[in-house]
Amino acid sequence: VTHFGALAERINSTRLWDRHEQLATFGATSRGGVNRQALSNEEFAARRQLLTWAEPLGLTPTHDPAGNLFFRYPGRNSDLAPVLCGSHIDSQPTGGKYDGVSGVLAALEAAEVMRETGLVPERPIEIVAWMNEEGSRFAPGMMGSEAFARVRPLDAIRAVRDANGVMAGDELDRLFTVFPEIPVRPLGFAAAAFVELHIEQGPVLDAARIPIGVVSGIQGKKTYKISVFGEEAHAGTTPRSARRDALRAAAAMIDTLHREIVDADDVVRFTVGRVNVEPNAPSVVPAKVSFSVDLRHPEGEMLDGFALQLERVCTELAAPCTADVERLVDAPPLTFASELRDLIRETADRLALQAIDLPSAAGHDARNLNTVCPTAMIFVPCKDGISHNEAESVLATDLVAGTKVLAEVTAQLASR
Ligand SMILES: [Zn+2]
Repeated sequence: VTHFGALAERINSTRLWDRHEQLATFGATSRGGVNRQALSNEEFAARRQLLTWAEPLGLTPTHDPAGNLFFRYPGRNSDLAPVLCGSHIDSQPTGGKYDGVSGVLAALEAAEVMRETGLVPERPIEIVAWMNEEGSRFAPGMMGSEAFARVRPLDAIRAVRDANGVMAGDELDRLFTVFPEIPVRPLGFAAAAFVELHIEQGPVLDAARIPIGVVSGIQGKKTYKISVFGEEAHAGTTPRSARRDALRAAAAMIDTLHREIVDADDVVRFTVGRVNVEPNAPSVVPAKVSFSVDLRHPEGEMLDGFALQLERVCTELAAPCTADVERLVDAPPLTFASELRDLIRETADRLALQAIDLPSAAGHDARNLNTVCPTAMIFVPCKDGISHNEAESVLATDLVAGTKVLAEVTAQLASR
């Protein structure tokens, strides 16, 4: 048994930083970011690099049928449920070097120092890189953790196609062909806990220059497809009184929603990001318009209230057209296990690292793991909160601080 702090003091800043730089060469873009989308050749190459680093540590790699990649650090009792820690290595098409990657590399660095100190925990530890967190190639994202947590059936995930018509299932089969040496284990297993380190992707920690965020939970999210049905008509001959203009009704809805879905604290997030007009011709009164709504708030009651408001506005402003409000995603806000949050806060405190509690505004694989086992997240600052951007930037000292906390937290959890 290693004493508290022994892992933290061995965290190797150069090794951790160099591995971020090296992983960023797979799918590197000319503007300093990465394009490493799920199950692409670039992502396969990054997986290969992780294998190269894990091998001398004696970590055992496995895949599951959803393409999640695990590395097992053995414990004294292999029958005990493992502690899971990790994140993802896929990226947006113009992503940064740290989103997801930091959580996987921090977990790997934790295993490095556990090996160096000869730590043999009671429970095994499984480092994980979840398949397709980003959802840019195969949408929506978080496929690997959804399958693992049985939030979504594997068949449904395999059937999803990318923009070129390539099926996720075929790419998963290709993954298993490219890595025949990695055994494929059954989907899903019991875990004692899941801890995910991630860059904040928001400005709070960087602005306050605080290295550690103890993530309280993830804000709720609802998404909708609103369809407005009118009637095609000649732009020159049809009088206003006889028109059923779907675009005019949709524009009124969008404007009203932007004015009504607001709060004094500026916490609610309301976005219309996509509009489709049919027939989309300059001299035809639009017959059908559909638009997307992305609505988020950290409190369930507030989120539900705004959702009701959205349905009311769309119904009231539809005339002389009709409107259909279809809800696509309904992810309630969640709160992470308080005992894990306390452990992260105490650990940061014992390591003399400043920490604050904050909610996550973005979704993460931890949302799905929270349905499987006690789950928590550690945030580290990123410059100006910029993320999903090639300019994403972090300080090595912050990465090291987060990795110290992750290593000590994981060792404590695995010794229980
Ligand atoms: Zn991420």
